[in-house]
Amino acid sequence: MRFNQVGVNRARINTGRIDMACIDRVRIGKFRISMAHIRKSARLLAAVRDGLTGRDCVFCGSRCMDDEDFICAGCDAELPRNRPSCPGCAAPLALSLAQGVRCGSCQRKPMPFIAAAAPLRYEYPVDAAIRRMKFNARLHYVGAFRGLMREAFDRLDADVDAVLPVPLHWRRHALRGFNQAEELARPLCRETGLPLLPGVRRVRATPYQSGLDSAARHRNLSRAFAVRKRFAARRVLIVDDVITTGSTAARLAACLLESGVESVSVLALARA
Ligand SMILES: [Zn+2]
Ligand SMILES: [Zn+2]
Repeated sequence: MRFNQVGVNRARINTGRIDMACIDRVRIGKFRISMAHIRKSARLLAAVRDGLTGRDCVFCGSRCMDDEDFICAGCDAELPRNRPSCPGCAAPLALSLAQGVRCGSCQRKPMPFIAAAAPLRYEYPVDAAIRRMKFNARLHYVGAFRGLMREAFDRLDADVDAVLPVPLHWRRHALRGFNQAEELARPLCRETGLPLLPGVRRVRATPYQSGLDSAARHRNLSRAFAVRKRFAARRVLIVDDVITTGSTAARLAACLLESGVESVSVLALARA
């Protein structure tokens, strides 16, 4: 299948940097399809499917009671919650640390962000649910995760002016029809009144991170992001679906700090 972007700003193509926000159409074979149409179709299909399947629990698939918001009481009680966790990198810990103390890894090599939180551990059934949301476009899962994200945001030890979902490369965004980080960030922005930041692009289509060790992830991500302009926001919260080693968030945070942002914190749905 040939898959090319069209309708993009030529100056940016010449620099080799293609900005998601600049692309309005893609060409798949001989068809030209607008990006807005792709996004709208993905949402419409998800809404139709959600209407057919009803309010099933996102983790076990059992029918939810009227007062349960896509998570049944059984799963809610059993979810692998990420507590205690390191306040610096959200890594799961066996024991709670004293106030202000960080995990051994953060003490040896601090992350370029000031705080990180994730409400869940990336274990079954959380990992399976996140994969279904991402790869089967189960966008209604965001409704189930909204409360968990908010709860972790309230625990985050950082002041925040604006929210930046980890950007996807335009090609992956077009194929998937949505960016899961953006879907998770949107309800949080609505609830907190924080603005969702545009202006960062993924300039390299990095291969999937899963299955790579820490050094390989680092190589994979080098020069993956570019900030289009200086931000007015001083304190930025990066939002992602999963923090695995923290290398994606660290790269993006470093990129933001270089562009003049004062501090960066990170919130993800789950931490490996
Ligand atoms: Zn359940
Ligand atoms: Zn840590």
